[in-house]
Amino acid sequence: MKYLFGPIVSRRLGVSLGVDILPPKTCNLNCIYCEVGSTTSLTNTIAEYSPTEEIIRELDEYLASRPAIDSITFSGSGEPTIHSGIGKIIRHLVKNYPAYKVSVLTNGTLLWKKEIREALSPAHLVLPSLDAASEKAFRKINAPEKSLDINKIIDGLEIFCREFSGEVWLEIFISPGINDTDEEIQLLISAVKKIKPHKVQLNSLDRPGTIKGLIKEPLEKMEYIRKTMTQAGIEHVEITGHYDKTSAEHAIPFTAENLKDIIERRPQTLEDILAAFDINRNDLEKQLQLFIDRGIIHTEDQDRGRFYVLNKK
Ligand code: SF4
Repeated sequence: MKYLFGPIVSRRLGVSLGVDILPPKTCNLNCIYCEVGSTTSLTNTIAEYSPTEEIIRELDEYLASRPAIDSITFSGSGEPTIHSGIGKIIRHLVKNYPAYKVSVLTNGTLLWKKEIREALSPAHLVLPSLDAASEKAFRKINAPEKSLDINKIIDGLEIFCREFSGEVWLEIFISPGINDTDEEIQLLISAVKKIKPHKVQLNSLDRPGTIKGLIKEPLEKMEYIRKTMTQAGIEHVEITGHYDKTSAEHAIPFTAENLKDIIERRPQTLEDILAAFDINRNDLEKQLQLFIDRGIIHTEDQDRGRFYVLNKK
């Protein structure tokens, strides 16, 4: 599969078929925590980065067997809203596969553009991120393309939430020493109160980011931020945890190619992989060791455990 990956068991979306419509790594941000790696093409240009009809064809082929999935999710190697065909693909899915939820993971930076809001409007769930409400923290965490302006982005998120008929879950990635100060949290609170998403999800480093030495926010501080937001009148603030729904019915057939595919999309722990595949631990460890011996992957130790990471070519 060229544009599809998984399905993977996602913490937030259940069993999710990923749709990756951009070549790696094309984005208008270069976030320090990006699981896909550093942005190699930093651009704000909206264009057809991969052929829209080819993506639709691959989706049709895959969905013809009516697989047991919860969500078809736009995510992957960059920011999906800079692909000019995203609206057409979403409309096609909503019209022809009504049994599935269509979700879009976006950095939310272009929602001030009417055509982007219209493109996303038929989706069921949009998960934008907003990690900072000050220009200084925005530049530090998200390293944006130079024309992006944080106030304009917040305005765009507000308009989108007002117009959109589906659900909006706003994700905030907390990074120690950058956006976890009382001052930054108060600015974020003002922005969230203006945007009014259905849910706020606080996240911190879960997998290796793009820079060395990046650390995860301690749980106590995450709890403090959640409480501060709740006390300020923001409803439905949660700390995202590990998604633990696993069942053989949802497991992906285990092949070396599928294994490499999910590690290529994101670094994975052994437990992440076991949740996604119907395979026993011993067999999985053997296959991972084989990948290491062949120089395909390496390991990196983080708070959450040992991650298997694809080697760069
Ligand atoms: S917006 Fe998403 S894809 Fe782009 S750099 Fe940030 S985390 Fe990575």
